Amino acid sequence: MSNPVLLRDKTVVTRVSHGCAWCGELIPAPSTVKYRKYTWDDGIANEWWHDECWKALLNADVEDVEEGYIAGDHKRGSTVNINS
Ligand SMILES: [Zn+2]
Repeated sequence: MSNPVLLRDKTVVTRVSHGCAWCGELIPAPSTVKYRKYTWDDGIANEWWHDECWKALLNADVEDVEEGYIAGDHKRGSTVNINS
């Protein structure tokens, strides 16, 4: 698996609802959220983040997230992985 290449990293106002990349909870539109777009293997990935979930990622152990993460693995705003 190749490393992701970040293409875009900015704050956006959503026009439709999206699942949060961290907690998996739906982010209703319109919301002002962090948005990241990157290439991952052969595809393009888009992520929308709750503020508190992005902060949780920044506070998470590197070892916990460097292999990637799956939306819904963590509670909203928490570094606790519910599957580990
Ligand atoms: Zn979230």
